[in-house]
Amino acid sequence: MSRTNHRIPLVAGNWKMNLDHVEAIHLLQALALRLRTTDTTKVEVSVHPPFTDLRSVEGIIGADELPITLGAQHCSHLESGAFTGEVSVGMLRRLSVKMVLVGHSERRELYGMTDEVVAQTAGAVLSGGLIAVVCVGETAEQRDAGETNEVLTRQVTAALAGVPKGAEASVLFAYEPIWAIGTGVAATEVDAQVACAHIRSVISSERSASVADVMRILYGGSAKPDNAGDLVAQEDVDGLLVGGASLDAESFSAMIDAVAACYGSPAGNGK
Ligand code: PEP
Repeated sequence: MSRTNHRIPLVAGNWKMNLDHVEAIHLLQALALRLRTTDTTKVEVSVHPPFTDLRSVEGIIGADELPITLGAQHCSHLESGAFTGEVSVGMLRRLSVKMVLVGHSERRELYGMTDEVVAQTAGAVLSGGLIAVVCVGETAEQRDAGETNEVLTRQVTAALAGVPKGAEASVLFAYEPIWAIGTGVAATEVDAQVACAHIRSVISSERSASVADVMRILYGGSAKPDNAGDLVAQEDVDGLLVGGASLDAESFSAMIDAVAACYGSPAGNGK
């Protein structure tokens, strides 16, 4: 399957709490080797290592001029102060981090990150000049109760409250159904499309059709090399947020290649 589009797809690797900085270097080098044969004009790639790896990963991306965007997994919505264990946007920016995941379901579920703090964090990321990838998605219970759209509407609307008008170009959403994360059971491409289209419709009514039209919406949750192409072939799925499969250079690069292959013409030539 192929598609053309004005939205450049993103394949983002969320390493979570895996890989120390030495292991991170090994993975990055293995990935860099494989990316040599990838058409990186058709797909953007980001990695989101643990905080302790950022400096090492940044050094390699910079020295080898790798076509990889450096991302973080989380940050504080506050600038500085007595917040033990937290990391600010400014600290990330000093390490050349360009992109931050905001409101991943593990932050929401395990660390009590509310919709309000998600919005404040998105706002902090944007005012620090970085890109925010806001994660949204329903639990299995909410899905079974038919509440998926309601949950997505609430989470997207709440997150947009932290996004100043005019700053939307630095925001992406990632639809990550919680029941699909790390379970091996991905959403079907049809379900992913329906949810991503719903997210786009919420953005459209909260902001405008033109804002919604250019904003990238990713799918995440047990994405693998064998479903990557089918997922991004969907009209409203503009890339993937990948957990487990991003820890293996071969799997992750196969997914990047599948996404690049799906985009038949260089970004910008479509539509
Ligand atoms: C994630 O946690 O963002 C994720 C998509 O994980 P996995 O790919 O392992 O399901």
